[in-house]
Amino acid sequence: MRYSQYYIPTLREVPSEAELDSHKLMLRAGMIRKAAAGIYSFLPLAQRVLKKIIRIVEEEMDRAGGMQVLLPIVQPAEIWHQTGRWDVYGDEMFRLQDRHGRDFCLGPTHEEMITTLLKNEVRSYRDLPLRIYQIQNKYRDEIRPRFGVMRAREFIMKDLYSFDRDEEGLNRSYEAMYEAYTRIFTRCGLKFRAVEADSGAIGGEVSHEFMVLAPAGEAVILYCEGCNYAANDEKATAALPETAAEPLLAVEKVATPNQATVAEVTAFLKVAPEKLIKTLFYKTESEFIAVLVRGDDDLNEIKLGNLLNQPYWLAAPEEIAEKLGLPVGYVGPVGLKEKGVKVFADLRIQTMKNAICGANEQDFHLRHVNLERDFTVDTFADLRLAKAGDACVHCGQPLQETRGVEVGHIFKLGTKYSSALNATFRDEDGVEKPFIMGCYGIGISRIMAAAIEQNNDENGIKWPLPIAPFQVIILALGEEQKAAAEQIYRELTAAGVEVLYDDRDERPGVKFKDADLIGIPLRLTVGPKSLAQGEVEVKVRMTGEDFRWPLAEITARVL
Ligand code: ATP
Ligand code: MG
Ligand code: MG
Ligand code: MG
Repeated sequence: MRYSQYYIPTLREVPSEAELDSHKLMLRAGMIRKAAAGIYSFLPLAQRVLKKIIRIVEEEMDRAGGMQVLLPIVQPAEIWHQTGRWDVYGDEMFRLQDRHGRDFCLGPTHEEMITTLLKNEVRSYRDLPLRIYQIQNKYRDEIRPRFGVMRAREFIMKDLYSFDRDEEGLNRSYEAMYEAYTRIFTRCGLKFRAVEADSGAIGGEVSHEFMVLAPAGEAVILYCEGCNYAANDEKATAALPETAAEPLLAVEKVATPNQATVAEVTAFLKVAPEKLIKTLFYKTESEFIAVLVRGDDDLNEIKLGNLLNQPYWLAAPEEIAEKLGLPVGYVGPVGLKEKGVKVFADLRIQTMKNAICGANEQDFHLRHVNLERDFTVDTFADLRLAKAGDACVHCGQPLQETRGVEVGHIFKLGTKYSSALNATFRDEDGVEKPFIMGCYGIGISRIMAAAIEQNNDENGIKWPLPIAPFQVIILALGEEQKAAAEQIYRELTAAGVEVLYDDRDERPGVKFKDADLIGIPLRLTVGPKSLAQGEVEVKVRMTGEDFRWPLAEITARVL
């Protein structure tokens, strides 16, 4: 490709709206342009990178038994109503209506769609397992679209869904994907880490995130050098001492409250019944004691009444506080560390164990003693979230902290969607059973940003070779060097190398700057001095190494 005929609108100025290096560099290198918040056009250089990433992803998905399809982006509301997610998904879902007033959304993910498709097609266990994937735009109306294509509202995702007969099948599918993801990120030339992830409100199932390691990443990772344990900070658990100095959940004796009905709770909170994820509520005369509500963010736990005295009620969504008639600051989401919520990190297991032994009197009950009533095992897991320096649960070594960008996420779903959508197959024993499912996502466009975030310097991008838009850039410094440069360009191109030949009538300084900025891995400079000696100056962008190669040997050495 000749630079003079190619469209790379580089910018000298650092765009003011960009915070992250990757965002700045993608704008400056002429890769992306913003159309609206979180919505971007990909220019030629970016498109080349995306295609490279997609190719690697496709090869590995196919190798792992995946079959590529293309599902609709516009999805009817009905299927989302059937799983309850039309309401649960909240404001992150882009919704629209057709001319007849029917509801649709732009797919933020495709569990409903793929399950509905297959339920009508796949009848027998003989057709399983199935691993179906697509690569396509996804739409999420992110509350804070930022960092360019890293957290966009329209972005490219690969999503695969596995359908198996039984748990063993699911485990095989999951392992195949885990391995495929490891191969993909390795082949992309990225430093990454698979970490255990919180499976969210679905509970109980296994999930891993693949993180590209970068200090500016939004995700916090805790890992152990001793045994290789790694988890994100919403999941990582710490080993706790056997005894606690002081109980953090003090046992209280309170008059036994009546149990509230779902109707009472929903009327009081003014939320839809589907938003209540725990239907165990107690009320005193004027207030409820424990309520779990699914909010827009995550799992929001709202506790009222005397529990307000507990030390862990910190920052809260104002809207909820208002609904409950409480001062902001007294109710709060659990597990959202970044919002300044103290996540019970210090709670000691022993405290809980002791408390559980409390006795009950007539018409009174002890609070903070009753597993399932006052807290659940899941709540308990949250209570032991680890921080850097805590002992690793597996080997006792202190946990380290680092940051990353979530580029992939794999998840054992079980029968959540197949049950809700009545998607069954006839098993060998003649019984109709719901598919056992898994889902596996990769942020294609996010990988591009993450790769830059991990590999750049003050001069620009340093593309890992496998996903670089071009492999080699040739600079002809002046008119007299063009013939030699042209010759190298032709030879390399003929040999199948992807070459960008800077044949522009620009000053050498401009060419060097642009070459560094757009980050092509190997730079060949044909300048007057080296050419006079029959040589070309070679520079490796990633390492900064430079040397000279004889003109006659260029192609052989590049290959
Ligand atoms: P995040 O925690 O960053 O919001 P997520 O957990 O909501 O991501 P998933 O539902 O797991 O995302 O989607 C699968 C993959 O899609 C993610 O691992 C990520 O690589 C990519 N992805 C998710 N949201 C975005 C976005 N807004 N912009 C670009 N890529 C995204
Ligand atoms: Mg998200
Ligand atoms: Mg995530
Ligand atoms: Mg995720």
